[in-house]
Amino acid sequence: MKLEPVIGLEIHVQLKTRSKMFCGCSNRGEFEPPNTAVCPICLGHPGALPSVNREAVRMGIRIGLALNGKIAHRTKFDRKNYFYPDLPKGYQISQFDQPIVEGGRLSFSVGRGGEQRTETVELERVHLEEDAAKLSHSPDGRHSFVDFNRGGTPLAEIVTKPDIRSPESAKAFLQELRLVMRYLDVSDADMEKGHLRCDANISMREVSDDPKRDGPAARLNPKTEIKNLNSFRAVEQALEHEIRRQTALWEEGNPVSEQSTRGWDEGKRETVIQRTKEEAHDYRYFPEPDLPPLELSEMTEDVRLRLPELPDSRRNRMVEEHGFTAEASRTICDDRHLADYTERVMSELAEWVTSAESGNWEEKRAETAKLASGWILTRLAGVMAEHGIDIRILKITPENFAELLTMIRGGKVTGPNAMLILEEMALSGQDPSQIMDERNLGQTDDTEGLERTAAEIIAANPKAVGDWKGGKQASVQFLVGQMMRATKGKASPQLVREIIERQLGS
Ligand SMILES: [Zn+2]
Repeated sequence: MKLEPVIGLEIHVQLKTRSKMFCGCSNRGEFEPPNTAVCPICLGHPGALPSVNREAVRMGIRIGLALNGKIAHRTKFDRKNYFYPDLPKGYQISQFDQPIVEGGRLSFSVGRGGEQRTETVELERVHLEEDAAKLSHSPDGRHSFVDFNRGGTPLAEIVTKPDIRSPESAKAFLQELRLVMRYLDVSDADMEKGHLRCDANISMREVSDDPKRDGPAARLNPKTEIKNLNSFRAVEQALEHEIRRQTALWEEGNPVSEQSTRGWDEGKRETVIQRTKEEAHDYRYFPEPDLPPLELSEMTEDVRLRLPELPDSRRNRMVEEHGFTAEASRTICDDRHLADYTERVMSELAEWVTSAESGNWEEKRAETAKLASGWILTRLAGVMAEHGIDIRILKITPENFAELLTMIRGGKVTGPNAMLILEEMALSGQDPSQIMDERNLGQTDDTEGLERTAAEIIAANPKAVGDWKGGKQASVQFLVGQMMRATKGKASPQLVREIIERQLGS
């Protein structure tokens, strides 16, 4: 008997509207002192009337369109009733039977390099709702605190079908979903900050050995819900743990027979039971009488026209239009701002190269893209990480960055010295040729001088020369290193190598 996991996800995305879902309070309450971004509506005072935030509805439509869902012509809100200290009204305004989006799908890549494959997960629905307040507890366990700033924050809940077959796929799906939310600019979608929260449903089922026979494989078994997974790692690890636990129960002849809710204990690395079906809430949904249903057709057409480019199409375009490799394109597009920056660099670079060199840009595109992605993804990324610089506040203009790349390309500066210039550019915002002149970092074209220095270095290092004559090719590298140091990085390593090899050989 073979078992396979059947996984579905429910994701709450915190929408970054200016105001809350049903009142005018600031939606930036997480940065304000507790209980200051509140009003009678989000505190649930009797008689206070909610009204729908249009921007949140537009964002819900954006999400639905980006995920290929069907946007409802008519949508309405419902009350989901339960009692809890973080919910002053005694109910949450959510959507029950007429969600803003039905269906949809998202394709994503799992694994990297040669192992990479594409998967698609179908969606059940997307609906809008308000968040509950935030509870915290004193370390001694004697006091609890409620911050109502978060109460009433707009959320989009995205529910997948039980379409996912591995923890690795669940994680990859979530990462792509986060990227889509960022491209749509509807949420910061930061899991650690709770802007993206995930609950996972999982059950196991038997897979028939005969692929033609569907048999028990078509049936779904009672699911276990794992609540509040707040990092990609937690999602993957909690699902892996639950697969081990449920598989062991099958092997004991005692598979999971009733629905239950479990939590993830990060410290113990295991899921822990929270409640079983008997204790499940009966929410008694009913239509929200204070909010009229919404007609969305007109708004949907308007939102459709303004939909931005999504990660998947941008990745393909970066390959086709700029000549990046698929791998480089994927890494660049993982950050929308980095992708914006890179595209501006590439357009400047095309101008620089076409004006400074003869020949056709199309022919030089791929090698230029390789130079650019190498310098952006490793050197620039390294400098930014070292100095804690975000791409959005980078002082290096795309024009200056493109100029530096053409200087490297044209042999005006060596790689090591270009690295020094890059760091200075990031710190001061100066342009590269100015830094090169002021700090005397330009590549030397004094071959006579280089010949002299090479002869001196060869004379001063008889052991390395002896090794080379004894057949040890690597000792040339040592001599090249000595030369680079003597010339303060200003000589081209290739040229230095040629000179040394020629002098050694003669
Ligand atoms: Zn309010």
